[in-house]
Amino acid sequence: MKRRPHAISFRMISTVWWTSILCLTILWLTVLTHTAGAAPGHEGEEALFTQLQSGKRIAIEKNFTPAEKPTVYLTFDDGPSKLTPKVLDILREEDVRATFFVLGGQVQERPNTAKRIVEDGHALGNHTYNHVYWELYSDFRTFWEQVQKTENILLETTGVRPRLVRAPGGTYGNFDAFYFYYLGQAGYEIYDWTIDSEDARRPGMTADQIVRAVEKGPFGNEVIVLMHDGSGHDETVKALPRVIRLFKEKGYAFASLTPGVKPVQFSSGKLKWSRTENRESFDNLLTTAHEHRELWAVEDILGKDNAPKALPGSPAAIAYTEAAQRGGPDRLNVRMGDRTLALTKEQFRFQDGSYRVPLRPLIAAMGGTVEWNAERRTAVVRYGAITAEYDLARQELRIRRPAAEWNPEAKAHILPFPEMELANGTLYVPLRQTLELLGDRVLSSDVPHERGTVEVLAAVYGGYWTGWMPI
Ligand SMILES: [Zn+2]
Repeated sequence: MKRRPHAISFRMISTVWWTSILCLTILWLTVLTHTAGAAPGHEGEEALFTQLQSGKRIAIEKNFTPAEKPTVYLTFDDGPSKLTPKVLDILREEDVRATFFVLGGQVQERPNTAKRIVEDGHALGNHTYNHVYWELYSDFRTFWEQVQKTENILLETTGVRPRLVRAPGGTYGNFDAFYFYYLGQAGYEIYDWTIDSEDARRPGMTADQIVRAVEKGPFGNEVIVLMHDGSGHDETVKALPRVIRLFKEKGYAFASLTPGVKPVQFSSGKLKWSRTENRESFDNLLTTAHEHRELWAVEDILGKDNAPKALPGSPAAIAYTEAAQRGGPDRLNVRMGDRTLALTKEQFRFQDGSYRVPLRPLIAAMGGTVEWNAERRTAVVRYGAITAEYDLARQELRIRRPAAEWNPEAKAHILPFPEMELANGTLYVPLRQTLELLGDRVLSSDVPHERGTVEVLAAVYGGYWTGWMPI
């Protein structure tokens, strides 16, 4: 008697097991069929794989907006360490923003410093978890896992999921075409540098030597300076005020890197590592990369507001705080390439730190058109290859976007969109979301040149696929 129930439950488990296998097989076949149906399909991917294997990188068309005036991006790698708060103090004092490519392991040790980097208005980048070259460069999977691990730590600690990546040791001789391609497909931007401060070239570099290395340039319109705030780099801290003065004297503006800044990447040289990639793992990694990109996109839409991030106590922050206390700035300029949408206080709304702007003039300035369908209470936006329907009745937004490189079928998305609002015959929409959902990008939202005016700087792509779109 005691055996029977056992036997039954075993049979049941067995049935469940086989049913699961069957379901999984069907699912797998469905996925396979679906993938095969979607061009570029296997042939396209085969060609891609062959090209990458030959070492040739795949060029992805993207429009980056060059800085309008000479701009320097100071970058600090390998932290946070006990030196990082000193670096942050100097940057605050000088009212300068920078970028920190941090190690996941270091962030675990100094979570509060990582938080302060973000609170002080600097950008965070991912510099992998442990910086161990032979682990990172023996196989892309390890590199990917370390980037993911670091990303999760940063997300948990600071709320930021950085898209900026810097390869430990730089990409030269370390990255091959596969590394670049996978990371690009996952939505990361990879930044090497244009000026090496040489602070990590050998032990014992003095502050004088570091300043002299920076002085050598080259001083282009956009400069990315490599420095280190990992432990032992006390001389970098000493050199920093002089490095800042150097760029101030040359008339450079200081900024944090954003994914809108054109990446600097070394040409891929002879690899220092021997690696092989096979077709199957290529497919798997590509799927993982694409999934990751989607995951991010949702956060891009939901997670941001338009509140300017400025250094506490800086003139920008004071101007902004004053404006915010009065219920928003007096003027809002949205600069999109050579066009500017200039709105006065009566023409936009400022709510919970974000801007809502009238849809029609915004789209017109972007180069699109808007039609109002009174019966359906829907504004239909046509912008390049994108159609967007702002449905006021249903409080939803329907977007039909152009085909993406990895998803050649044009796709329709329906998003709940309670943020739109009709007042006196004008439809107001959130500025940042609207730009980003239409494939454009907000590069900066905190350029308050004069008191009471906030400038939002956006890169607009005319409604065509440019390698980036949040959905
Ligand atoms: Zn490093």
